[in-house]
Amino acid sequence: MNLKQEIKLITGHPLTGGDKNSLMTVRFRNILTWTVYPGVMLIGLMIYFGLKSHGINVFLSSYVATVIAGVGLITFFELVLPYRKEWLPSRSDVGTDFIFLMLVQVLLPNLLSILSMSWLLGFIKNNNWDLGNFWPHNYPIWIQILIIMFSSDFLRYWLHRAAHTWSFLWRFHAVHHSVQKLYWLNVGRFHPLEKTLQLFTDTLPFILLSVSKEVLALYSVVYSIKAFFHHSNVDVKLGWLNYIINGPELHRWHHSRTIHESNNNYGNHVIIWDIIFGTYFLPKDKNVSELGLLNRNYPMSFLKQMQAPFIQDIDIAQ
Ligand SMILES: [Zn+2]
Repeated sequence: MNLKQEIKLITGHPLTGGDKNSLMTVRFRNILTWTVYPGVMLIGLMIYFGLKSHGINVFLSSYVATVIAGVGLITFFELVLPYRKEWLPSRSDVGTDFIFLMLVQVLLPNLLSILSMSWLLGFIKNNNWDLGNFWPHNYPIWIQILIIMFSSDFLRYWLHRAAHTWSFLWRFHAVHHSVQKLYWLNVGRFHPLEKTLQLFTDTLPFILLSVSKEVLALYSVVYSIKAFFHHSNVDVKLGWLNYIINGPELHRWHHSRTIHESNNNYGNHVIIWDIIFGTYFLPKDKNVSELGLLNRNYPMSFLKQMQAPFIQDIDIAQ
């Protein structure tokens, strides 16, 4: 449908002079849907490199870039360019998601890194292993980041696929699929046990391989902005990039309430492993319908979601 036809649909009559503002709005919105993802990623990277060039610690630079571009701009675009207005979160959604974010995404990874790293690094040192030799430290920083993204995604792909096919893991992963709308803040809604498994695939191996802090900090900026977009309610269009990046257009299908639709698109950063292993799903002729689990009464509070995996078939109970 071209823009004039779109205006006719909105206004109910063919384009007239008075519709010029509407046409501008539709055109502007159309441009935004194509530019918002690369634009926000670019702003995040510019903030990171700008702060780093002023001598600010790389992890602090990464944190500030993530907060401004990831949290600030993506929240803004969810409000002004929503994919579905009915997916804007309620106050109680935000409260529960914030608890998940703080406890499962911030506190748990830091605790696990400190505990497991001190034990593992001690073990490696006692055995005189030098795992750092296995990492191409002399490669350009962007190549190192691509190696992290593709290799960690290979592990994450199989962990995620197992979580959809092995009932024991699904009980924990169902917490993440309990959401009935998508927006960036509920990207952190994972049971701590599943989050621990994820850390063993996408973070700890690279710390053990002594990947430099510059690479890890830059990776963190790209990872966070990508993750927030991945789950966001921003009306993003990625075009041919949907065959490389696992963006929101693909991830919405992964949260479909219809199981043969949701058992697809398992990738985290990239979608290449889904293409190779036959789980790529992006229908051209329809939009996703309902999201979430079969059980519409699945508990939604933080404490009850901690207990839910221990109750058999709670995800399908009516
Ligand atoms: Zn899943």
